[in-house]
Parts: sequence; C-alpha cells; structure tokens
Amino acid sequence: MSESLTQLDRLGEQLGRLRLGRSAARLATLLDDAARRELSYSDFLEELLTGEISDKQQRNTTMRVAMAHFPFQKTLEEFDFKFQPSLDPKTIRELATGRFIGNADNVLLLGPPGVGKTHLAVAIGMKACALGYRTLFASAATLLNALTKAQSENRLEEKLKQLTQPKLLIVDEIGYLPFDRMGANLMFQLISRRYERGSVLITSNQSLTGWAEVFGDAVIATAILDRLLHHATTINIKGESYRLKEKRKAGLLARARAAEESLET
Ligand code: ADP
Ligand code: MG
Repeated sequence: MSESLTQLDRLGEQLGRLRLGRSAARLATLLDDAARRELSYSDFLEELLTGEISDKQQRNTTMRVAMAHFPFQKTLEEFDFKFQPSLDPKTIRELATGRFIGNADNVLLLGPPGVGKTHLAVAIGMKACALGYRTLFASAATLLNALTKAQSENRLEEKLKQLTQPKLLIVDEIGYLPFDRMGANLMFQLISRRYERGSVLITSNQSLTGWAEVFGDAVIATAILDRLLHHATTINIKGESYRLKEKRKAGLLARARAAEESLET
C-alpha cells in the first residue's frame, strides 16, 4: 500500500519534471479510469499523450493571442454573414485555413466604417494563432508612431526586423489618418521588408484609388500597392454599418432625429 503511494508520488514527480503537468496533476484518476475501462497499455499511453498535446496547443494558442495585441477577441463564428451579403463566406473561410500565411500572401479588407473589417481581421488573426502562426495586430497610427520613434532613436533597422518576424502582420485602419512624407516612406520600407516573406492583412475605409491621397504621394502609394497586390486577396465589403443597425434597433437614430427636429422648430 505504502509502496504504491510512493510510486504514484514518484510518477507524479517525473511527469512534472518532463513538464507533463496535466498528467502529473490527475495521474491517480487517469490510472483508476484506465483500470476501470480495461485499457490496453498502448491505449492508455495514447490517451495520456493526446491529452498533453492538446493541452500544450491550447497554452501556446493562448500565448500567441496575448502576444498579438488584438484590440478585442472576436471569432468568425460570431460574425453574421447574412448581414453582409456582398461578402462571400467562402473567401473568408479560405483565409481562415491560414494557407495565405503559409504562402506569405496578403489580404486587403476594404469598406466603409462599421461593416466588420476589424472584426474579420481579428477573427482571421485568432485562427492564425491557433494554427501556430506568430501574429501581430496594430493600428496604422500605432505602427507609424512606433516606426517614427524608432527612426528618431536610430533603431529603425531593429524595429523593421522585429516587425518582419510575425508570420501575419495586421495593419488596421489605413486611411483614417493621412501619412506625411516620412510616414509614407516608413510604411513603404515596412511593406517592402515583408514582401514575399510574411503576410500583411490591411483594413482600410478608403478604396485603393484613394490611397494616393492617404499616402500624400501617388508614386509611393503605387509602390506600396505594387508589392501588396502582387500576391493578394482583396475583399470589398459594400454593406451597411453593423453599428448603425444596432443603434437603429435601440431607437437611437429615431431619438437623434426627433431631437434634431425639435431644435429646428
Ligand atoms: P469596421 O472595422 O469595419 O469599422 P468593426 O469590425 O469594428 O467595423 O465592427 C463594428 C462592430 O460591429 C464590432 O463590434 C463588430 O464585432 C460588429 N460587427 C460588424 N459586422 C458584424 C457582423 N456581420 N456580424 C456580427 N458582428 C458584426
Ligand atoms: Mg475597424
């Protein structure tokens, strides 16, 4: 009796040393369960290892999601495709397989505010994390600040290297703020650096023809688009804002209209 207790302790300690924490914590239950179900040695070992591997994958995904700095966590399952008929669910599901990341292809998600660009970008990013790809999410403004700061501190090279490491870089909201000449140039350097090395997923409220204005220079906008579009999926969402739909549901727009009318009279 005391001997079997000692063996259980020993096994627990050994599993812990091998970092098989899941099995270490529930060894007694696993053994009882295997005995009750009369598992073969090989079935027992397989169940134990499968459990450890899926635990490890879960932990790695959680870590990658934390490192990605998503502004919120939303999934494709939470996205209502019926609300956005201009969007082909097949295209999004193909992106969710992560094949484009394996090929270092890019994605452009274009459309007016509120149609779900950021939601889809995050959801695709979360899938990428689950598939084991290092992912980084940043708004265009944050990215530009980081690049500008790095340049002024003479460590632009280091920053560009760092931004080339994630297999998927998501740049959200290109087009809300115009780039000055230096900003456009820094963005060009980043896109060139990642070209054919790692995927970039960009969301923008501007059509691609509007990018000359966003970057303040048609030549640099063309050079950026040339690299981005060489291997890319471009998705144009043409629908209505989901935010407005929700507001309308809450009667906010009707109330706002009523308030305006009462001001006019
Ligand atoms: P955009 O980035 O295009 O401005 P967001 O992705 O931020 O829009 O979407 C605005 C809000 O509406 C978010 O909370 C998002 O989760 C939600 N949303 C947008 N489209 C859908 C949709 N089709 N189904 C479910 N939620 C949506
Ligand atoms: Mg957005």
